[in-house]
Amino acid sequence: MASIPIGHRIGLGYDLHAFAPASSGRSLVLGGVTIPHPRGLLGHSDADALVHAACDAILGALSLGDLGAHFPDTDPRFKGISSLTLLKACGGMAAERGWRVKNLDSVVIAEAPKIAPFASAMRSKIAEALDVPLEDVSVKGTRPEGLGALGRGEGIACQAIVLLASRGELARLLSRLGRSVRGRIGR
Ligand SMILES: [Zn+2]
Repeated sequence: MASIPIGHRIGLGYDLHAFAPASSGRSLVLGGVTIPHPRGLLGHSDADALVHAACDAILGALSLGDLGAHFPDTDPRFKGISSLTLLKACGGMAAERGWRVKNLDSVVIAEAPKIAPFASAMRSKIAEALDVPLEDVSVKGTRPEGLGALGRGEGIACQAIVLLASRGELARLLSRLGRSVRGRIGR
């Protein structure tokens, strides 16, 4: 029998995609949300840099390499796929190994569009894919203030950090809670 993991693990993810030419007709998808913008990002899947960073954070916490190693962009099965499907799979890999996502924080670095109006919808999509409460997912936006390639609006970069907690600990906590509740009602 595989040993039950104990404690916490932390993982970091970073992803960067260039904008596709406006003529390509690609949609801009970030955090699973389609954002009205003249240009979408270049990529094999939906090029959702935020969700890719979240996936890499989970895989990193599990020491399982990166997203490309598990879902190669040369594989036709992943062409145009919603990256939320990949995030769900990464959450599944954590669960299989006895871990659950405790919380995830992220930042989208983009000169445009503004992220704040869409942050709440992005949080919902990510929380749903990972099967965690909304308050355990955070999405923030920041502008590169015109500096460098991101400042010139050539692409969008995203960072995510995730904390995994062992499911074993959750089970122990719930059973302890159950015992104290049973104690209080005199059983
Ligand atoms: Zn990516």
